[in-house]
Amino acid sequence: MKQHAVVVGAGLAGLASAISLSLSGWRVTVLERSATLQEVGAGFAMSRNAVAAFRGLGFDDGAVAALGAPTWASGTWTAQGKPLMTVQQTPSTQLIGVHRRRLHQMLHRRADDLGVEIITESPVTALQPGAPGEDPA
Ligand SMILES: Cc1cc2nc3c(=O)[nH]c(=O)nc-3n(C[C@H](O)[C@H](O)[C@H](O)COP(=O)(O)OP(=O)(O)OC[C@H]3O[C@@H](n4cnc5c(N)ncnc54)[C@H](O)[C@@H]3O)c2cc1C
Repeated sequence: MKQHAVVVGAGLAGLASAISLSLSGWRVTVLERSATLQEVGAGFAMSRNAVAAFRGLGFDDGAVAALGAPTWASGTWTAQGKPLMTVQQTPSTQLIGVHRRRLHQMLHRRADDLGVEIITESPVTALQPGAPGEDPA
């Protein structure tokens, strides 16, 4: 019998965790307190390791290209324009500028395709995490 994981929250982290668990062979249920799945906010910079993690969730080159536009972290300045920290533009400091909603939708679709069960209007009010080697959660 498959092990069953319950993930609280269908944000970016919850959906990514659900996909990862599902790819590892777990049956997954995501409990989301909101009535609809959505991501608020606008831009999101995905660093190189975040893109690697995204690929690890089973997304291919086409999906990575569809995420958004390449951009760079360039540094931090004071209000007067004095550099506090500058970042060299190298392949390792390249970022992808993504719209949050697009990323969330891609993760949601992938979770659906994997058969992850997502239950909305389900606020979690308490949990018992279990203990290694003892009773499960
Ligand atoms: C202004 C700002 C800019 C940022 N920019 C970047 C960036 O450029 N790059 C980057 O990598 N990171 C960035 N971050 C960080 C990143 O946005 C967050 O780490 C990420 O969105 C967190 O996702 P999450 O899924 O953990 O949480 P959330 O997006 O908050 O999702 C949590 C979900 O859980 C649900 N939930 C909460 N409690 C319960 C409950 N009790 N029961 C059921 N459901 C529940 C909520 O309704 C929600 O859907 C930024 C953060 C901020 C604030």
